[in-house]
Amino acid sequence: MPTSGPLAYDVFVADPIPQNVTDLVPNGDRRMFSPLSVTLIHGERDAVLVDPPLTSAQALEVGDWVEATGKNLTHIFATHGHGDHWFTADVLAERFGAQVVASEGTIREMHRNVSLRPHFWDALFPGQIPETSVTAAPVPGNRFTLEGHDLRIVEVGHSDTDETSVLHVPDLELVVAGDVIYNGVHQYLAESANGGRDAWRRAISVVEDLRPRHIVTGHKNKELDDDAERAIAETRLYLDAVDELLAKHEEPLDFFNAMLDRFPDRLNPGALWGGAVALYK
Ligand SMILES: [Zn+2]
Repeated sequence: MPTSGPLAYDVFVADPIPQNVTDLVPNGDRRMFSPLSVTLIHGERDAVLVDPPLTSAQALEVGDWVEATGKNLTHIFATHGHGDHWFTADVLAERFGAQVVASEGTIREMHRNVSLRPHFWDALFPGQIPETSVTAAPVPGNRFTLEGHDLRIVEVGHSDTDETSVLHVPDLELVVAGDVIYNGVHQYLAESANGGRDAWRRAISVVEDLRPRHIVTGHKNKELDDDAERAIAETRLYLDAVDELLAKHEEPLDFFNAMLDRFPDRLNPGALWGGAVALYK
């Protein structure tokens, strides 16, 4: 199919929502979930949504945002299995008659996250997440198209969880990176032990090798731009600091405080605290 015209993309950032946790973060913050980025890649008529959000309320907002563009939503793609990147996929797929797609590995992780729901996701957000079944299907060769433009699912292995992927849009020099790259938000470290951070670094290099100019990260500070080089460098710097400061500190609180000193401007210290507690267990 010939391409019909240039593509463009827009990002909807769902603001942080409170978790159902009474303990405060050691810095006094309430426990919140990080901001969530939802990306719409669009041509003249059609559009593809990447990483639908977590809660029913967020899905309503995102759905209205998509509808206001007047574009026909053909696909919904999820970068990885964490529920904050796909639990509302069904709701939005039904609203727009779109097809949900993901890599084989991500689909396996989706099933795992469904089984984690009662103890993890629903405990944090009781009654807020819609009923979910895994309807995502893989696409041949991990490729699909938007008005003839190539969209490539690139599997990058373990990053902030297992079996993650990114969406490469060569004609936009864009990578929608899920949680492989972060942008101004504390990184999720709970699954980064036992070589996880080295695997994560390899995943970052795969993204870098795609030579994007723009990267939309799954969790971004909406005040920041999508500059690829900066986001890649900052994500690496953060992982290096984690290795350095884990070796230096014996207690999670000392590690947490040292990381906050190092990265005072990143959003959601609560995400860092959750990771610190997990890493020192
Ligand atoms: Zn995430």
